Amino acid sequence: MATKIPAAQKRMFQDVFVCKNCRKKIRSQAVRIIAGKVKCPRCNNYNFRPIKKK
Ligand SMILES: [Zn+2]
Repeated sequence: MATKIPAAQKRMFQDVFVCKNCRKKIRSQAVRIIAGKVKCPRCNNYNFRPIKKK
């Protein structure tokens, strides 16, 4: 049973954000990012952007 799960992969990428300061990738819920509850572990920055590449 080789089943692919595109929904899970999509969710993984949607939950990835990049620090605007040091470009470190972190995984967190978008709600928490917007609420400012997520801090970059490397540079203690609160500014993140979603990782959307097309
Ligand atoms: Zn950072």
